[in-house]
Order: sequence, then structure tokens, then C-alpha cells
Amino acid sequence: MIKTLAVVGGTHGNEFTGIYLLKKWQDKPALITRPSFITEMLFANPQAYQQNKRYIDHDLNRCFDQTHLSNDKLTSIEQTRAKEINQLLGPKGDPRVDFIIDLHTTTSNMGPTLLITKKGAFYNQLAAYISMKMPQVMISCDEDHKKNEEHHFLSSIAKNCVMVEVGPVPQSVLRHDVFEASDVMTQHILDFVEHFNNNTVPPLPKTTTAYRFIESISLPLNADGSRNGMIHKDIQDKDFTEIKQGQPLFMTFNGETVCYEGEKTVYGSFINEAAYYDNNLAMSLLEKITLTTY
Ligand SMILES: [Zn+2]
Repeated sequence: MIKTLAVVGGTHGNEFTGIYLLKKWQDKPALITRPSFITEMLFANPQAYQQNKRYIDHDLNRCFDQTHLSNDKLTSIEQTRAKEINQLLGPKGDPRVDFIIDLHTTTSNMGPTLLITKKGAFYNQLAAYISMKMPQVMISCDEDHKKNEEHHFLSSIAKNCVMVEVGPVPQSVLRHDVFEASDVMTQHILDFVEHFNNNTVPPLPKTTTAYRFIESISLPLNADGSRNGMIHKDIQDKDFTEIKQGQPLFMTFNGETVCYEGEKTVYGSFINEAAYYDNNLAMSLLEKITLTTY
């Protein structure tokens, strides 16, 4: 039974969609209210938003593993904010809030994506329900093998959580299509929780196609660590499409094409995500999987 649910926006200060959705819902809370549970809202990183940045000192959505939260020596703006949010919604391990929906956007061409970081029948049913209601949604399972205390995402404060990740949209920009898809997907998640609480989940497809994270890969780098290339035009915007051996991935600045050499067919996500330039990350590689509902 989920009694209290929190919808979180602005975990990244330059992802405006979630921030403006919260404004919309604060004016009309009935839109995200359902009879069987309480819905709260939280603007996670207003300081970064004021500076029009993803974060000020540290990526807030990497600050919520138990070791970070319990280390009093970590006092940067986001490390401090993480501890505050942990008090507001958690504490992690014994949280007040039962479910967190954290709203994100990406500059990559991922379309509406439901990011699931946990395993279990509840999530397989949720994935099936969302796929049934919004067939264009991609289901992405991200490190769902990890123990909850090891997860560094804000949403991991609660025992149950998902992230809504929609793109493409530039940082600090609102796009109507992305805003609308984020809104509609959130509504469907809330409806599913309502059905789950009331034991009225409708008949669902028996299986759902999903994509599970394998690894992140880096841009081509020089020996000194500087960037030596970019995403190849053939794979730009091709999130969730097949990457086979020999597929061009990168074009170096001296004109060399770098291809995928793996034998296993994989799929890309977060291809050329602007926020990953700090770390020279190029994309995530995923495998296609099938979730079984019943
Ligand atoms: Zn984000």
C-alpha cells in the first residue's frame, strides 16, 4: 500500500520541464491527487535553478547513496541539500514517503522514457501499464540489480521510485511536446498507483519490451584526457535503435571513424547528452530485455 507519494522536479536546475510542471500542479493540486494516497511536491534544487545550472557544486542526483548521506564532512551545496531532502522525504532506510516520481529531461532523442531502478512484480506491472497507455514510452531499467542503499539517485530515498526522463529538449528550455509527455506519463503512473492500492489494476499485456543498462562509454580522448572527437552523425538521435558490430559511433577531429566493436547487438541511450560532457561520456549502452508481467 502506497500512502504518501512525492513528485519531485528541478533535481537538475536547468531541466525546466519538471520545475514548470510543479508550478502547474501547485496551482491545481487536484490534477495529481488520487483518493487512496497523499501527493506531495518538492522542488529539489532551487539554488541551481536560480543560477540556471544543472548543479552548483555536485550533481544532486548522485548524492543519495547511504555513504554520502551519513558522511557529515560532505558539505557542498548539493551534499547539504541532499541531507535536507533526506530529512524531508526520508530518511533513506525508513522513509516517510512511500513512492517518489522524479522528473528529468534529456537533450538526447530518447522520447518519453520511464527509468526503473528496481526489480519486482510491481515494476513489471507498472511498465506494462505505462506501455499499454502510452506505447511510445521506452522502458529503461537502470542498475536494478543494486541494493537500494547503494543507489545515488534522489528517488532512491523512497522504497519505491521511478524517474520520468523525456527528450529531446535543450537545457533551460521548455518544449510543449516534452512538457506534455512528462505530464501525461506522470498522470499514468499516479493512476497505476491508485489501481495498485485498490487492487483494480486492469488486465495487462503479459510481457513488456525494456532496455537494461550495461555500461556508459566515453568519447574518444587524447592521451592527456582531452576530447578528440564527437558522436558520429549516423548514430546522432538514434537512441533505442540497434547498434551492431561495425556501426560508426564517433568521428575524431582528425577524420577517423570509430566503430562499435562488440559482438553483442546493443542499443544506445543518452546519446550525446549535454550534461555528460563534464565527464566525456558519450552514451549508455543497453541490452534489450523482456519483462514478464504475471
Ligand atoms: Zn536530470
